[in-house]
Amino acid sequence: MLPSRDPRDRVPARFQPTRLIVHYNEIALKGRNRRWFEDILARNMRLALGSGSGFKVEKLYGRLAVGVGPGADWRCAAARLARVFGIAYMVPVVIAEPTLEALEAAAAEAVEGERAGGREPPTFGVRCKRATKDYPFTSADVQCRVGARIQAAAGWRVHLDAPDVPVVVEDLNMLAFLGFGRVEGPGGLPTGASGRVACLLSGGIDSPVAAYQILRRGATAVYVHFHSFPHTGIESQEKARDLAEMVQPPGHRSRLWKVPFAELQRRIVTEAPAALRVVLYRRFMVRTAEAIARREGALALVTGENLGQVASQTLENLHTIDGAVSMPVLRPLIGLDKREIIDLARRIGTYEASIEPHGDCCSFLMPPNPATRSRPEDLAAAETAWDVAAEVDRLVESSAVEQVGACEAGILAEIQRKD
Ligand code: ATP
Ligand code: MG
Repeated sequence: MLPSRDPRDRVPARFQPTRLIVHYNEIALKGRNRRWFEDILARNMRLALGSGSGFKVEKLYGRLAVGVGPGADWRCAAARLARVFGIAYMVPVVIAEPTLEALEAAAAEAVEGERAGGREPPTFGVRCKRATKDYPFTSADVQCRVGARIQAAAGWRVHLDAPDVPVVVEDLNMLAFLGFGRVEGPGGLPTGASGRVACLLSGGIDSPVAAYQILRRGATAVYVHFHSFPHTGIESQEKARDLAEMVQPPGHRSRLWKVPFAELQRRIVTEAPAALRVVLYRRFMVRTAEAIARREGALALVTGENLGQVASQTLENLHTIDGAVSMPVLRPLIGLDKREIIDLARRIGTYEASIEPHGDCCSFLMPPNPATRSRPEDLAAAETAWDVAAEVDRLVESSAVEQVGACEAGILAEIQRKD
């Protein structure tokens, strides 16, 4: 087996941090809104950790910190927070007096027992950032002395550019933090900072990635799935629910609307020109999603459409689909290659679930030659067979609505689980 590249694994085994320092980047750019963004991020971190988990979130000079009580498992907290949007990265730290001797002693204590580890020793590099120059030593002094002490105590090798274990010394208000390792966050903006969207989730590879991209920019989401049950199995609905759970920010609740689409599809097949079928499906989908979005207070729709990927995604057809609604349709994947979308799906962890086979409502009753250049007037003519508003109402009213988002008990169980 290859050695794990997860930096949490290279943090010294006996290192018992008392805090996780949480860094954000973009929020810091928001000027006067910064406090508001910080408050939202802190709230989201508390939601992700769960109340009663024993981890305390506090603000700290341009960063956030999570207090780790004695015996609490900081790795579980870090794993949970690694899904909280707005977090750039986290560093587990102990606090020391800002003197060379105290920092050396803290470093030696942190790496105690590392020599006997039996593994290939990791590389490390010490970086010191001082908030004030009021000390009788320089940052370089700290780096040399702490580095030498770690080398002597643990036998680790120095590699300043790309260390396995970055070691940081930061001083804040006459106390110093000594940190080992770094856990990456997802970046982006905190959930709740950017309004609400309705994400159309098909159960394929693209739509959960599209939802994730918009969620990562701080939006909250409701999810809408169209299914052809009983003509297709129940699997597509289960997949849509699983995928919604995967992209939903931890600790936040939402809803998945499951819209029964089979009856409308049957009528489209019997009453409309075959070439227009797929664009007609899509126009009814976005209209229904828009009606749901209005009920849910969402301001835009999100799809996984991608220019030229399939017949329904030519510029002409996207234009015809957009003509059916007045809300903006956000398509965050529009310019990506399929390969890039698959890489993203793997990174966010949805790929495996997406490729499970399911009966898709749109491949069901797919025409042999779908129009690639539909015109809005042809669609309008085909739709005269419907009372469109009544049809959309019927679809919304007959939808089943399911809760999405882990319950508090589930979060607590995960946090308290020891490795
Ligand atoms: P995906 O795009 O998720 O891989 P797909 O390729 O089967 O699924 P397309 O035919 O490319 O779907 O549809 C484009 C977009 O339309 C999807 O990304 C999704 O946002 C929306 N969509 C398609 N089918 C459905 C459905 N059954 N329920 C909800 N949204 C759908
Ligand atoms: Mg697609």
